[in-house]
Order: sequence, then C-alpha cells, then structure tokens
Amino acid sequence: MNRNLFDRLFASGLDLERVAIRHPDGSVSAYGDLTARSGQLANALVSLGVRPGDRVAVQVEKSAEALTLYLACLRAGAIYLPLNTGYTLAELSYFIGDAEPALVVCDPAREAGVQEIARGARTATLDSHGKGSLGAAADAQPTDFATVARGDDDLAAILYTSGTTGRSKGAMLSHDNLASNSLTLRDYWRFTADDALIHALPIYHTHGLFVATNVTFFAGGSLILMPKFDADAVIDAMPQATAMMGVPTFYTRLLQHPGLTRELTANMRLFVSGSAPLLAETHTEWRARTGHAILERYGMTETNMNTSNPYEGPRIAGTVGLPLPGVALRIVDPESGAPLANGDIGMIEVKGPNVFKGYWRMPEKTAAEFRPDGFFITGDLGRIDEHGYVQIVGRGKDLIISGGFNVYPKEVESEIDALDGVIESAVIGAPHPDFGEGVTAVVVASDRALDEARVLKALDGRLAKFKLPKRVLFADELPRNSMGKVQKNLLRDAHRDLYA
Ligand code: ATP
Ligand code: MG
Repeated sequence: MNRNLFDRLFASGLDLERVAIRHPDGSVSAYGDLTARSGQLANALVSLGVRPGDRVAVQVEKSAEALTLYLACLRAGAIYLPLNTGYTLAELSYFIGDAEPALVVCDPAREAGVQEIARGARTATLDSHGKGSLGAAADAQPTDFATVARGDDDLAAILYTSGTTGRSKGAMLSHDNLASNSLTLRDYWRFTADDALIHALPIYHTHGLFVATNVTFFAGGSLILMPKFDADAVIDAMPQATAMMGVPTFYTRLLQHPGLTRELTANMRLFVSGSAPLLAETHTEWRARTGHAILERYGMTETNMNTSNPYEGPRIAGTVGLPLPGVALRIVDPESGAPLANGDIGMIEVKGPNVFKGYWRMPEKTAAEFRPDGFFITGDLGRIDEHGYVQIVGRGKDLIISGGFNVYPKEVESEIDALDGVIESAVIGAPHPDFGEGVTAVVVASDRALDEARVLKALDGRLAKFKLPKRVLFADELPRNSMGKVQKNLLRDAHRDLYA
C-alpha cells in the first residue's frame, strides 16, 4: 500500500467537491482542484528533472499555489524543503549548500541572485500571486499524475528549525512522522469536514505548514487562507470560521482589537496556541473577552506536536497539557539522563511515531540528541505537575547558573509579569565576574513610572535572593522572530558587557 502522505490525505473517499481553500478574494478551491493542480505541478517538477528523493527548496511568499506545490512535491516523491521568506541571499546560500536541492523555487525578483548561489540546481519562480515560470510550466501539463509510492520512513520534508538558539538545523521528517501526528491531532482536537480554519501563519514553519494544513485536510475541512496575520482580516473572517491556530502574538494583538467580542467568536469552537509560551494573563483575558479557553500545545520542528491541553477537560494556563496519544514523554536529569520524580524540573524527552529521523547531514548531532532507548532530547526544560500536565520552564540553553545555583528564567519572568505596570519580561544571564552569570531582567512596562528600584523592591521576599535580578533594564519591546519567539540570544549579545 502506498504510504505517501498525499495519498493518505487525499484518500479515495474524499469528496472532491468540498471546499479545501477559501481565498482572500472570496473565491474557493475544491479538493478536486487541488488534486488536479498538484498533478500538474508534479508533472512540471518531473519535467524540470526532479526525481524521487530529490530535495526541492522553496522560498516563496504564502499563496494557495505555494501550498499546492508542497502537495506536488509529496506526489513526486521529492523532499519538500521550505525556507523562511526572510532569509537573505547569503543565508539562502548556506541552506542551498547544505541541502543540495535539485530545484530551487523562488520569487521572480530573486531568481538571478539565486542562480548565482544555486550550485548547479535548476531554478523556477513563483510570486506572491502564485504566478511564475513554475506555474506556467504546470499550465501546460496534464492533471493526471500517478503519486509516487513511498514507505512510512521515506522522507517527505526537510524543515529547518527556527534558529532561536543557534544555526537552524534541517530536521528530516518522514511521510509517517507527518501523517501520524496530524491524524492524532485531528482526532484530539475534533476536526471534521465542517471545520473552517483561519490560516494566517507562515507556511515555511511546522505550525502553519504541517499542523494547520495537514490536520484540516485530513478532516476534509477548509482553510481560510490569509497571506499573513492581519488583525482586521482575522476579525472579519471569524464569523465564517470554526477554528484558528496561532502564535501567542496573534492573541495579544487580537486582544487589542475593539472588534474582538463574545458575539464575534460565537461560531468558533477552538483557538489553539503554540510555537512560543502563551502568557497566563493572555489566556485569562481571552477567556474573559470571548468565553473561549485557548488550547495551548507544545511541539517542535523535530517532533511535530508532543503535548496538548485537552479538548474536553481543563485547559490550564501556563501549561502545555498532556502528552498526546502515542507520545511517550519523560523528565530526566539533563546530565545523567536519569528519570526524575513528578514535580521536579528537568530535561523533556519524547519518543513516538512523531519524532523525526535525524538532522540532515549532521550524524553526530543526531546521535548526541537521542538516548540509547530512542528518546529524543528536546532541549526544553520542564516539569510534570500533580495533574500530569507538562509545564515548560524554558530552554536548557537559557538556563542561568548564578553563583552555582540554577535559575529558571520563566520563574523570575512570571513574578515580574505579575507586577502592576508590567506588560512582559525576559530574564537572561549576562556574564558576571563574581557569579559567573548575573540574573538580568529586561522589562516592557506599560507604566512609565516603573523603575528598577520598584521592580526589585516588589520582587524582594517573593523570590530567593539568588534568583533576584542583579539588574532590571527597560525596553519598548522584546526582540521576536517571525514565529513570535523571544530572541534571548540577541538580548544576551546586547547586554554581554553589563557587569564587565
Ligand atoms: P532552534 O532549534 O533552531 O534554536 P526553535 O527551537 O525555536 O529554533 P522550532 O522547532 O520552531 O525552533 O521551535 C520549537 C521550540 O519552540 C520548542 O523546543 C520550545 O522551546 C518552543 N515552544 C513550542 N511550543 C511552545 C509552547 N507552547 N510553550 C513554550 N515553548 C514552546
Ligand atoms: Mg529547537
């Protein structure tokens, strides 16, 4: 049996008349349209020399055609390799050198530059309207295409990690890694053919590409496709939608919109958040404004989704919920790997059909990140609370060791965030001559009168002395990447001489 993800998504029983994508201009594409167009694009890929197992690197703006190209790559048995649209040509050069794609699909404005760094790869173009040389080649092709047979472990995609903690790594994801996780999520989150998902996430990242798209398609539902997040557009779409998946910044921005009300969200059944921590305060405010409890889940490029708050049952703010069915999750001592008791903070490790096949061309790094019994070391620190819910306290790389004591930034951030006049904060370690690292807080305040002394006074007695920030700095906003992740490495760089 063909285990190609495309064949599993577009299974024989699928109603081809059903709407798969609602476009911003009001037009729609049915599942049958996607089947036909992905067939044409797959034929075009073959005509451009792409063979099964070849990488197809894609750096294009979000469009329905771009999403169809992902499906076409699956059908052709090629390995889809999407790249962040923000990457410069110099950055692209690294990824192309690393991945050695057979074909690079890029914006027409970039093609000349890409050809110079393509190292023999062919190039084709696709613009933000879904037009370009690739589309033109596809127009001339037949819609029929016999989807290439793939096994569960054959690679469907190489997805580069977000580069929050260092250079992005290429995660090798198989057809079954993607299919198994999406099927689990579809059932866990109760997606059906009646769902219409607001899709405002980028499609070069696991959240928008795999979670949002595959879960909806596996259910036979539709995507309300938006080129990017725009609060007005999301508010406008809400009455026709049933679900939304977003990063925390979507929710904080929508909360600033006067149009967000209980009535507006009456047709919605599910709001999902992930990719970065959702502030408990955002969860509470959202519930008060709309009556909906945002469902927070936790995943990574390498593992797809690992945990989720329940569909029915309490969705607890500040937690990422329970391990998904089929996912084994444990908390261990980061050094020894020995399992820890519930409640203790340690390294989160996971195992299951969702976990990737390793880092592309990094066998040593791959070996270092897996335990002998097959568990993947996520790099995230967390604990399991008394209800079995997982709480993430931060990344191992963000752990601060001050005077020999471990300080978990999240604990200090939570105390600071709870202070009046504070919007949010980031706590980092900066090199310190006496303590090794000095706990340093960067605070975004709504109250202009808030100063370092007041913050420190308010924290005194709430945190052990060794956890108290040595300095409290103020900023207008925290540096974030396109997925809304706080870039602590930039903060560490900016403040590296603070205690020198
Ligand atoms: P890199 O691995 O290149 O440094 P990255 O880890 O940010 O970048 P992604 O795979 O996009 O790349 O992100 C996965 C990480 O995002 C997780 O390891 C975790 O730290 C964080 N994350 C995802 N969901 C949540 C969540 N709900 N709460 C807290 N953190 C989350
Ligand atoms: Mg990571």
